[in-house]
Amino acid sequence: MSEETKVEAPVDAKNYKFRAEINQLLSLIINTFYSNKDIFLRELISNASDALDKVRYQSLTDKSLLEEEPRFEIRLIPDKVNKVLHICDTGIGMTESDLVNNLGTIASSGTKAFMEAIQAGADVSMIGQFGVGFYSAYLVAQNVMVTTKHHDDVQLVWESAAGDSFSIREDKEGERIPRGTRISLFLKDDMLDYLEERKLKELVKKHSEFIAYPISLQVEKTVEKEVEEEEEEEEKKEEEKKEGEEEKKEGEEEKKEGEEEKKEGEEEKKEGEEEKKDDEEPKVEEEQKPKEKKTRKIKEVVHEYEQINKMKAIWMRKPEEITKEEYAAFYKSISNDWEDHLAVKHFFFEGSLEFRAVLFTPRRAPFDMFETKKKNTNIKLYVRRVLIMENCDDLIPEYLGFIRGVVDSEDLPLNISRETLQQNKIMKVIKKNIVKKCIEMFNDIAENKEDYQKFYEAFSKNIKLGIHEDADNRAKLAELLRYCSTKSPDELISLKDYVARMKPEQKNIYYITGESKEAVRDSPFLERLKRKDLEVLFMVDPIDEYSVQQLKDYEGKKLVCVTKEGLEIEETEEEKKRREEMAAANENLCKVMKDILGEKVEKVTISSRVVDSPCVLVTNEYGWSANMERIMKAQALRDASSFSYMASKKIMEINPDHPIMAELRKKCDNPADATLKDLVMMLYETALLQSGFSLEDSSSFASRIHRMIKLGLSIDDTSDSSDASDLPPLEADASAEPGEMEQVD
Ligand code: ADP
Repeated sequence: MSEETKVEAPVDAKNYKFRAEINQLLSLIINTFYSNKDIFLRELISNASDALDKVRYQSLTDKSLLEEEPRFEIRLIPDKVNKVLHICDTGIGMTESDLVNNLGTIASSGTKAFMEAIQAGADVSMIGQFGVGFYSAYLVAQNVMVTTKHHDDVQLVWESAAGDSFSIREDKEGERIPRGTRISLFLKDDMLDYLEERKLKELVKKHSEFIAYPISLQVEKTVEKEVEEEEEEEEKKEEEKKEGEEEKKEGEEEKKEGEEEKKEGEEEKKEGEEEKKDDEEPKVEEEQKPKEKKTRKIKEVVHEYEQINKMKAIWMRKPEEITKEEYAAFYKSISNDWEDHLAVKHFFFEGSLEFRAVLFTPRRAPFDMFETKKKNTNIKLYVRRVLIMENCDDLIPEYLGFIRGVVDSEDLPLNISRETLQQNKIMKVIKKNIVKKCIEMFNDIAENKEDYQKFYEAFSKNIKLGIHEDADNRAKLAELLRYCSTKSPDELISLKDYVARMKPEQKNIYYITGESKEAVRDSPFLERLKRKDLEVLFMVDPIDEYSVQQLKDYEGKKLVCVTKEGLEIEETEEEKKRREEMAAANENLCKVMKDILGEKVEKVTISSRVVDSPCVLVTNEYGWSANMERIMKAQALRDASSFSYMASKKIMEINPDHPIMAELRKKCDNPADATLKDLVMMLYETALLQSGFSLEDSSSFASRIHRMIKLGLSIDDTSDSSDASDLPPLEADASAEPGEMEQVD
């Protein structure tokens, strides 16, 4: 669509192109079929409320902002004649650059995310969460006009019929707006239901009940009026005049006037009565001589404003008097969520200081929860019912950033700044209590298994991050952890469950870390523990590596990683004796293997953890596990030098009862035997894979395997010269001849 054909704005209007992503978003909104169009009103009212919050906050320090317009309110004006719905607020308004930036040229990070979510089957009602709620206006409107007045600019009009452009011009002729914004939706022909009083009331009740400012709806009322027949002619004329004035007098003002009049003294009333005398006299006469003068009733249409939300702050009410639906409605109004909350905690704190709070746990994690470099907290701070800050970072730690809610303090000064908040002692006390209440709320959720599963899927990373960061609450957060285990492979269990069924002689809580449940489930590290019926927890979330390092123990039981050195599995006297005998019997094998492996391993010892596998590679107790090494390698930007420094030294543990080891022991009598070296190397490489490490040199590993395959297929290696030339020399002995492999059997 070319600009000339599209833009009908006056010549002094400036035309702008929508940013490409926003353009796409608009066509998605316009062209995709959604039945749930209602949400546009919630989004626009929510924007109006935000704008009111801003001006109220700024007016705390700059009273002049309120000079021309003292009211804070939202008005809905349906204009049935022109098929326009106006949503008016007395908020902060927008300057020209606000209009350019906010409504068209700067795409929020949510723009793309929202479109992706929609394409993946998400619902359009999620739009608010992605920070592009304004554009939902185009669900119902073919054309949108935004008339706005900001303190620092002239009255402006933004206008767009979607497409790829919008225009902005100064509004010289339009009705004056002292401060704020009027969004005018030129409704599509099949959307005229949104002009109906019943529909608008229903929507506000459903979605915007808890907006903290009065939302008034302009309604039409038919009133009956009694007129005297002989004065009828005059009345008619007067009415015509009134209609001509276009009911500029708003119902409220009229009411106010009425009330003021009432308040005024008796004298005035009397005066009024005297003034009306002329009117009343005939009535008296009428009573006396009823047949002489008649009155009759006529109908008149008037416009009035009717407040349609309750507005009382929910946190000021008693929790026992608030229904689940009311909490849900309030939650949705502050969160933009389209689903109900999972849990709520509503409490008062009284003592050295006083505050009230309502905290919610959502059902899902927000799309940008762990977006780097962005603090993501969602607590609104009020001071004595006035919103001071939208996302107050100082009230809640980052790991609880997913919690939504409001806090209303009685003690903080109204004009507190972001900078002074940080040092404020009151804030610290509030924060501490909020964390405490959040943990209580999570424990409440845990009472219902299904709910907790949902919670844990969404927020287990946050809990683990909390364990890592929040030393004061670590023990309490540990109660919330859940893992699968060798004894409960499919159902999550708590540390408490684990401890409750520990063996009487068991001292430690065992765990294994790895890439996935499948990867650890059959790990050789578990062999002995399984045989001894000792339970092992599966920690398969990368963050587990970090949190478990901080956690260290639970209820006095040490958390022990089964892939690390120093694992002391409880053993009987007999077992201990046998282990010592084995160590002595295999001393030579361990030495020979260490010589072959050289720097690759720190040492070779007898294992107490493997039963079925020939050997495993364990890491140092305080260094990285194989899993941690994998995680670190995956972080592409990590400095390679710190990597080599932190990567753990490996210890080869062998299973002396394994037939392979028995054969190797025999071969040790001839340490120069080249096949021995080849075999030890292969055992090492296989153990690397099985223990969760990656191969250092996959091509020499492959060559070794190929030699084994040829051996198995009885292929004479020397006859295949081309292949033989590809063979790398053996790791430990470059002079070894491939043909010597034949000695294996
Ligand atoms: P969000 O409100 O989540 O930021 P929107 O797309 O709904 O996203 O609105 C974009 C921006 O436009 C808002 O952040 C705000 O700055 C501005 N805006 C929208 N509506 C109004 C309004 N009624 N008054 C003042 N500014 C508004």
